[in-house]
Amino acid sequence: MNDTEHLLEISQASLLNIILVQPPVEDFYFTPHRSSTLGLHSLSEIWRTRGHHCQVINCALEKPLKKQIKIPETLTYLNPYRIKYSKDIKSTSWFNNYYRFGSSIENCVKQIIEFNPDVVAVSCFAWGYAESSLKLLEKLKEIRRTKSLSFLLVVGGPGVTVMPEYFSPFADLVVTGEGEDSIIEIENMAGLAEYSYPGKIINPGFTGELPFVYNLKSRRNSRFTVSTIISRGCPKMCSFCANHLVFGRKLRKVPLSDLKKGMNVLFNEVLTRADKEEKIKLHMNFEDDNILFYKEYFLEILNYINK
Ligand code: SF4
Repeated sequence: MNDTEHLLEISQASLLNIILVQPPVEDFYFTPHRSSTLGLHSLSEIWRTRGHHCQVINCALEKPLKKQIKIPETLTYLNPYRIKYSKDIKSTSWFNNYYRFGSSIENCVKQIIEFNPDVVAVSCFAWGYAESSLKLLEKLKEIRRTKSLSFLLVVGGPGVTVMPEYFSPFADLVVTGEGEDSIIEIENMAGLAEYSYPGKIINPGFTGELPFVYNLKSRRNSRFTVSTIISRGCPKMCSFCANHLVFGRKLRKVPLSDLKKGMNVLFNEVLTRADKEEKIKLHMNFEDDNILFYKEYFLEILNYINK
């Protein structure tokens, strides 16, 4: 689509309040890198360029950061293998207590409603975290009904892609695979008076150029941590791997020129945030599944970063 068509389309559609949400995570352990919300950031960037008011919230990184909760019935078969913490053995295993990482579902819902959304898009980045996403969707559906609110409920992500039917009773639209090409359908559905259940399941695919997406997450002293993904898909056939369900079997990369431009934007953002005279350390977390498939490509970008 050229710029004129793009602007015409935006002027024809009403501008929306769109909130993209990473729910809290329930597990024995958690590493923040695992919830880099890159998919949500990619969609948010597209919606912003289309003029919509868009926000990403990552409830898994909000306070209280960690709260012990009861282990779910479905996981009690693991009880004999859990190693109780003691001063002598310290953390010989991460699999001892069960926790919720991030804010409560109620706090998450509160933030979402305060945003006055037209669209709420909930992520499920791994099948193992389906229950948190479903709890959030259920609460949102209940509040929409009891308070006569009107917003479209969307769910998507790798966890959803492996079994979309499991999620469809809880949302109006279930997006499997890559989400970028679902945005028009979401915009068109937003504002409908009623939604039918179970929610519609779509697999829009994504044939466009891969965008360079990053999430500059935190800084500790002079160290900045950033997550990114510069390729998607994998042609290998490892029998245990579900990557192809989300990204397909063809490996696609962010074009090198776009990647270098994007890196410059990232470096400038880090410099703006850093104090003057500060010696900056940058920790880059590449979320790619098979980053060395095109070794030369990766080495070139490493050289560029080093320069
Ligand atoms: S992404 Fe990794 S595990 Fe999955 S098929 Fe490719 S090489 Fe195998």
